[in-house]
Order: sequence, then C-alpha cells, then structure tokens
Amino acid sequence: MKQPNEIPAAPIVAPLLVSWFEQHARDLPWRRGVGAYGVWLSEVILQQTRVAQGLAYFQRFMEVFPTVEALARATEDEVLHLWQGLGYYSRARHLHKAAQQIVSQYQGVLPHNYTDLRSLPGVGEYTAGAILAFAYHLPYPAVDGNVLRVVSRLCASTLPIDSPEGKRFCKTYVERLLQTGASPSDLGQGLIELGALVCTPKAPHCDSCPLQRYCKIADTPQAEELPYKGSTPKVRIRKFHYFWLHSSRGELLVYRRNKGDIWQGLYDLPLWEEGVQENPPLPLLSLLPNAEGAWRKQCCYTTVRKLTHQQLQIAIYPLPPYDGEAPEGYLWLSPTELKEKAMPTYLIEFLQKQGKR
Ligand code: SF4
Repeated sequence: MKQPNEIPAAPIVAPLLVSWFEQHARDLPWRRGVGAYGVWLSEVILQQTRVAQGLAYFQRFMEVFPTVEALARATEDEVLHLWQGLGYYSRARHLHKAAQQIVSQYQGVLPHNYTDLRSLPGVGEYTAGAILAFAYHLPYPAVDGNVLRVVSRLCASTLPIDSPEGKRFCKTYVERLLQTGASPSDLGQGLIELGALVCTPKAPHCDSCPLQRYCKIADTPQAEELPYKGSTPKVRIRKFHYFWLHSSRGELLVYRRNKGDIWQGLYDLPLWEEGVQENPPLPLLSLLPNAEGAWRKQCCYTTVRKLTHQQLQIAIYPLPPYDGEAPEGYLWLSPTELKEKAMPTYLIEFLQKQGKR
C-alpha cells in the first residue's frame, strides 16, 4: 500500500477545522457544559448508535441518573431497563460497573489521566481520548470512524483503516493537529462533526468543506472510494426458535440471559438455538405439544435482526396455556412485570403487537 508522501500541513488544517466547528457545530445536549460525566455518557450511548436515536436516551439518563453517584446506586435492572431498545447491552452494564468504580476509587470524579480511564470497564482508547479532550481539554486524540475517514481522504491515505498501520497513520496525524496548540475539544469534535456532516461516507460534500483547498483528493472520484478496508468481517447466522408460553393468569414464561452471549441480563422467551443445541432444552420439551417438531408449523412471528457480526433469524411459536410451576431455569413474569423488565427489542415489539406492553 502506498503511503501519502505529502500530507496537508497541520498548522494550516487545525485552525480551519476549529473555526469551522465554532460556526457549524450542531447544538447537541452533551455539548452544553455537561461535565466529564455527561461527555462519557454521550460517548458510550453514541457507540454504534445514530445521534438522532441517542439524543432521547442521553436526556433520559441525565434526568434519571444526573450524577455518577446516582448511576452507581442504581440496580443493574434499572440501568438495563432505561437502556432498552439501544442494543449492545454490554455498554450499559459496563457503564454501570464503571460508575461504581469511579465512586469507590475516584471519589465520584472521572479520572484525568489516560491509564486510569482505560482501567474502567468499557472505556477503550477512543472513549478515554474523548473524555480527556472534550471534557478536560487535554491534547489526546479521539479517533473514531468519522476521523479515520476524514483523515484518510484529506491525506489520500490508501492504508486500510481497519489495519494497525491505517489506524496509526490517522492517529499520528491527529496528534500533529493537536501539537499546533488548537483547542483539543474543538479540534477533536470538529473532525468528528466534519465526518458526520460534510465528509460523509457515501457522498462527501467537498464544496462545503473548509479543508477543500488542502485536501489531496477533494472533488475527485477517489473521495468516494476512500477509506479502504482490508477485510470484511464474517457474519454469523444464528437461528433462534422461541416459545410463547403463557398461563391463564396472563403471565409469560421467560428466562434471564446468561453471561457470554448477546443480551446478557435481559429477560427473554424460552429459546432453542438450532445448530447449537440438538433439541429444545429438556425442561421445555415436556411442555411442547408434539414431540416430533410439529410445533414448527405453528410459527406466528418471524423477524431478522442484524448485529455487527451476527444475523439473528428469529421465529416465535405459540404454545397452549400452561398453569404449572415454571420449569427449572425459567420464571413467570406477571403482566405488570412484563412492562417493567428489560428485554431484547424483538420481544418488546412482539409484545406491543400482542397489546402486552
Ligand atoms: Fe472530505 Fe472533500 Fe473535505 Fe476532502 S475536501 S476532507 S474529501 S469533504
């Protein structure tokens, strides 16, 4: 791969970016003096989430848990319930655990240094850089997908952005921008904002870009081709067969998802994952009306969910009402609890269709 031999000079680019950001930054709640806690919360919410969707969640979290202490005091169920619908629930669990660590080890104040920040659950290189630069105005690079794209295009770098070399190249360039003495917060957020509003993935708006004059590929077809990626991650297809089993009292049979898989800690319908378990779990088998899989013909709902590296093919099968004890490993949720417990989005949507939520 060819390395760019001449890159736009940092002392020219940095002030242009900062001045563009000052004039064009969107008025977002986490940019209104919310402190390190608010910056951290917004960064965790915005991982894998669009700004439009994350906004309501950020506001709700700040209302219910306005401080690190309030978040640390909450139960995991309360945090997961508020997070419901955002997906990637490990973010919520890490957020909660990290809040408890910040209270117990750092007197409720997010650390001001990179090493301590990285010791918190769920705080990676990008999030630590974002907290230090955006909240504490320290010159740390915060390199997300937007920044990788903008820098690759600006410098005409053909290094794959998912390779260590491609990432290092972009990070080094951001460090050079920071060495100019420009505001770390405006510079870091400016790069991200430029990637979100102007240097967008599919059709970069070079005519509106403050860096057009210095960009190595402005207004060329290459602008749409870059950045390059070296590999396409494999997608694992999973077949989830769910059983919809309720009592005559309106309770629903569920189980709580375990560690080591998606949706940990959420309440879910009894599941048989085809290809992983030979048959539906034993305690359930006795409740199925037809031993030889005739229940398969009674599917009442199907949906497909795409996660980063997984595609979930979901089917739900209704079973006749059952009034016995919940089999081992399962529990009944009352109609009120059904509205309160944290569940995967597919199940919330299904329950809403049934008028249960
Ligand atoms: Fe991106 Fe175009 Fe700006 Fe270059 S000039 S950074 S390609 S929007």
